[in-house]
Amino acid sequence: MINHRGPEFVPLLTRIVSRLKPFFGTQGDIEILSCVGTGGLEAAVVNALSPGDTVVAAPNGVFGDRFADIAELFGASVTRLPTPWGQAVDPIQLRALLEATAECRAVLLTHNETSTGVLNPLAELTAVVRSTRPEALVMVDTVSAVGSVPFEMDAWGVDIAISASQKGWMAAPGAAIIAVSERGWNAIASATTPRFYFDLVRHRDAQSGGMTAWTPALAVLFQIDAGLELMTTEGPAAVFERHESCAAATRAGLTALGFDLFAASGHRSPTVTAALVAPGEDWPRMNRAARERGVVLAEGLGPLAGRIFRIGHLGSVTLGEILDVVAVLEDVSVEMGRDITPGAGVAAALAAAMDSRRVAHAPEVAGSPSAR
Ligand SMILES: *Cc1c(COP(=O)(O)O)cnc(C)c1O
Repeated sequence: MINHRGPEFVPLLTRIVSRLKPFFGTQGDIEILSCVGTGGLEAAVVNALSPGDTVVAAPNGVFGDRFADIAELFGASVTRLPTPWGQAVDPIQLRALLEATAECRAVLLTHNETSTGVLNPLAELTAVVRSTRPEALVMVDTVSAVGSVPFEMDAWGVDIAISASQKGWMAAPGAAIIAVSERGWNAIASATTPRFYFDLVRHRDAQSGGMTAWTPALAVLFQIDAGLELMTTEGPAAVFERHESCAAATRAGLTALGFDLFAASGHRSPTVTAALVAPGEDWPRMNRAARERGVVLAEGLGPLAGRIFRIGHLGSVTLGEILDVVAVLEDVSVEMGRDITPGAGVAAALAAAMDSRRVAHAPEVAGSPSAR
């Protein structure tokens, strides 16, 4: 460890914040808090909202509900736009709800709903808020998206964006990352919910001197710094493309093995894929068989427990690892008595990854036969 109140700490924090900015698409402030992602969501709520505030939330899974629950617990009056889990939030429905709502202090959005494997169309959703409710705060849980998929805080008009160290940043859990816009700071100045540990103004003031308000989770900061070194060297575009191709491979591999994907087509996440447990399939046995072969599947959360399983592919992930996972699932599928052709999953996964890369590198010449 180093002295987090000494001069050796300043370049570490400064480097982390400056390297995060391109991934957040912001010139504004980014605060690092020592807590997990849920602490980041709570920090956003207690800093920007006051009891009695009218809030619109658009949850479509466990994490969207959690954000809305926190706001409600601290006294906000929350209207939820209902979206079936597995579907993406519909910008047209969000517009209709915002137009029908008399007052709206803030809109809570989830970028990537990790519990269902849905990437919400965030640019469209924020555009709806900005055009119908220019005064409202846009607060985004992008915990499992930013860093792995494009995020344009300033261009989209996001006011508070939350992430966490253990997702795309490839570090251990323990740090939440919160970006705040100018409009966000103005709202924070007038919001009356009590806060101390999570007080973002204290964090901003400390950080302007290159320090954190309280003792930071220093070991986690070392890891975030190492992750950002890798990500900066690879470059954002290449990082995003790697996630797209790993996601394409995962989806194609699972589909070739006969699994139905849970998330709606066109809204499937580049960072996590959810698939339905086949009807009548013995999920605990399948999970155990995968684990014995070294693959840890994520279970369904909340009401999706036992109904879906999820494969994470964010941060430190390569196509080779995805092909390994698909090969293991083939082996498991055979053991479970599924009717599959050995090799079909891996072949489909590899072909999909190559196709995804081809699309990413296609020359953008209108009318050219190779442009896709
Ligand atoms: C992981 C995650 C969180 C919560 O993070 P914790 O660190 O587990 O508190 C919140 N939202 C989303 C979308 C997540 O993926």
